[in-house]
Amino acid sequence: MTPAALPRVGVGVDVHRYAADRPCWVAGLHWTDEPAGLAGHSDGDVAAHAACDALLSAAGLGDLGTQFGTVHPEWADASGLRLLVETTRRLNAAGFAIGNVAVQLVGERPRLGLRRIEAEQALSEACGAAATLSATTTDGLGLTGRGEGLAAIATALVVRLR
Ligand code: MG
Repeated sequence: MTPAALPRVGVGVDVHRYAADRPCWVAGLHWTDEPAGLAGHSDGDVAAHAACDALLSAAGLGDLGTQFGTVHPEWADASGLRLLVETTRRLNAAGFAIGNVAVQLVGERPRLGLRRIEAEQALSEACGAAATLSATTTDGLGLTGRGEGLAAIATALVVRLR
């Protein structure tokens, strides 16, 4: 197997601050019972954003800023899920197939709990590959432990097909 044919991994991290006046969108789902959403351009969906960055990292296509940043204002209000769909399209166009994407939420809310499968399905459908979602907390430490925001970290594996 030539080095170019070997699987490639990528990493992505995202953090958004909680904002009481915003709907809560995480992992492509609307969490209607949450008292706060996430601030930022678009919906602040840290899970989808971290997944996009991991995929772009794995394919060597830069990051969300490179692909959808301020010089591309048409993407300014795009949902995280829409960005994940478009990121996938761009990877495929560049000759990459996605093996899987693993995302971990780091924070206090929303509680992934009973919606984990639903969230995994939303992310998997968006990227056309197996996407898994887990969650952890930080024992009250740091910005997520203090309840200031939500973070996500992601790893993706891709293979170059051509
Ligand atoms: Mg983001």
